[in-house]
Amino acid sequence: MSDKPERFIDDEGLRLDGRRVDEIRPMKVEMGVLSRADGSCYLEWGNNKVLAAVYGPRELHPRRMQKPNEVLVRYKYNMASFSVEDRIRPGPSRRSTEISKVSGEAFEPVVMTQYYPGAVIDVFAEVLQADAGTRTAAINAATLALADAGIPMKGLVSACAVGKVDGQLVLDLNKPEDNYGQADLPVAMTQDGEITLLQMDGHLTPEELEEGLEMVKKGCQQIIEIQREALISRYGNEDEEGEEAEEDSPEEVPESEEGEEEEGERDGSFDNEESEAENLDENEVTKEDEGEEDERQ
Ligand code: UDP
Repeated sequence: MSDKPERFIDDEGLRLDGRRVDEIRPMKVEMGVLSRADGSCYLEWGNNKVLAAVYGPRELHPRRMQKPNEVLVRYKYNMASFSVEDRIRPGPSRRSTEISKVSGEAFEPVVMTQYYPGAVIDVFAEVLQADAGTRTAAINAATLALADAGIPMKGLVSACAVGKVDGQLVLDLNKPEDNYGQADLPVAMTQDGEITLLQMDGHLTPEELEEGLEMVKKGCQQIIEIQREALISRYGNEDEEGEEAEEDSPEEVPESEEGEEEEGERDGSFDNEESEAENLDENEVTKEDEGEEDERQ
């Protein structure tokens, strides 16, 4: 691990990586990068590299874990052993279990869980390269992967951290600031500003906390814009599509093709559910259910 720098902010107000205190690191996203996942997103944020994959909605087994009135959203955060300077032990740890739990909960207010009772949506967030802020990077990627999978959501979730170094609040901590700073406050929020994740390491005064939350809100708004642009470049702008559709005369599209296209578009997110259901019919009793069957006899 590198040594603690003498100063984090120079006389010109610039941080070690040249940013101002209220600037986020450059972010780049690409959606639909995994062909076997229902939705996916690769995200780079500064030196962080994260991949998010969404599978589902699909039927949940064992059945006793099913929620009768809503879908279960499972979130798994994992840091690859090669993602950090000192190799980390592969597999779950206390840290990854905690991050998985709080990150999954960050999506609860937005995912419209009532549409898929008894089903599960699995979200996997794999950190390929870590440089501080990986849980927030993973949440930003997961939001887009969920949207890519066609999961109905009330809005997007974005996440960013704010912290304190040299007695000053700074947005989106880099590695030295995270390691040696006085505070680290990762936050996730909906596009309406509702906070869905808030954790804190270190110390902030109540005034600093208030100011920090204002800073992080601005950071999250910038990230929402990046997420929106990614969605528009992949799926187009709803308004533009509406205009185009009006301009097109219906006679130009043969009836059968039109029908097929509509059905495909409408059912995009259910394709997987149907094929999953078919598979289940064929193998009605799965291994996990066999135990349940036995108990009943
Ligand atoms: N880190 C590491 N080894 C670990 C955990 C974390 O090297 O086992 C590094 C990694 O670069 C991570 C940073 O420390 O991004 C900060 O970790 P933290 O637990 O604060 O989570 P994050 O800021 O990544 O959400």
